[in-house]
Amino acid sequence: MTNNLLQRKTIAIVGGGPGGLTLARLLQQSGVRVNVYERDVNKDVRVQGATLDLHDESGLKALTKAGLLEDFKENYRPGADKMRIADNKATILFDQHTEEWKEEFGSEHFRPEIDRGPLRTILLQSLNPGTVIWDCNFVDMQPSGKG
Ligand SMILES: Cc1cc2nc3c(=O)[nH]c(=O)nc-3n(C[C@H](O)[C@H](O)[C@H](O)COP(=O)(O)OP(=O)(O)OC[C@H]3O[C@@H](n4cnc5c(N)ncnc54)[C@H](O)[C@@H]3O)c2cc1C
Repeated sequence: MTNNLLQRKTIAIVGGGPGGLTLARLLQQSGVRVNVYERDVNKDVRVQGATLDLHDESGLKALTKAGLLEDFKENYRPGADKMRIADNKATILFDQHTEEWKEEFGSEHFRPEIDRGPLRTILLQSLNPGTVIWDCNFVDMQPSGKG
C-alpha cells in the first residue's frame, strides 16, 4: 500500500548500482511506480568489478527485506570472506583458512562475499520488466511549476 505522497507519481532513481536497484525493488514491493535511469548502454556493457562483502546490519538486512536472501545464498562465494594476513616476508601472521569456518547467516560477524555481477543480476531480475531505462545519463534537473 502506497502512502498519499507517492500516489499517482512515478519515482525516478538515477543510477542502477546496488543502491538504486535495491531501492527500486523495495519501492515496487510497496506498490510504488518506479523507473531507474542508468547511463550504462545496457546491462552487459561492462564487467561489474570485484566482490562485495555484505554485513548483517546493512547489505544483508536490505536483501532480506527485499525478499532476495535465498537468491543471494545461491550466488555468494562461500569462504571468500576468510582473511589471511602476512608480513613483508610473506610470513603468515593470521590465517582464517586453517580455522573451522561456519557460514552463519544471522550472525553479526558473518560477512559473506558476492561478486557485483551476480548481485546486479539478482536485483535486476527482481524488478518489473522495463523498470531500468538504459543508456540514460542524468545531466540536469529543472524546476517544473511549484515542484
Ligand atoms: C574498492 C571498493 C571496495 C568496496 N568494497 C565493498 C564491500 O566489500 N562491501 C560493501 O558493502 N561495499 C563496498 N564498497 C562500496 C560499494 O561499492 C558502494 O557502497 C556501492 O557500490 C554503492 O552503490 P550505489 O548504487 O550507491 O553506487 P554505484 O555502485 O556507484 O552505482 C552507481 C550507478 O549509477 C550509474 N550512474 C552514475 N552516474 C550516472 C548518471 N549521471 N546518470 C545515470 N546513471 C549514472 C553508474 O553507471 C552506476 O551503475 C566498495 C567500494 C570500492 C570502491
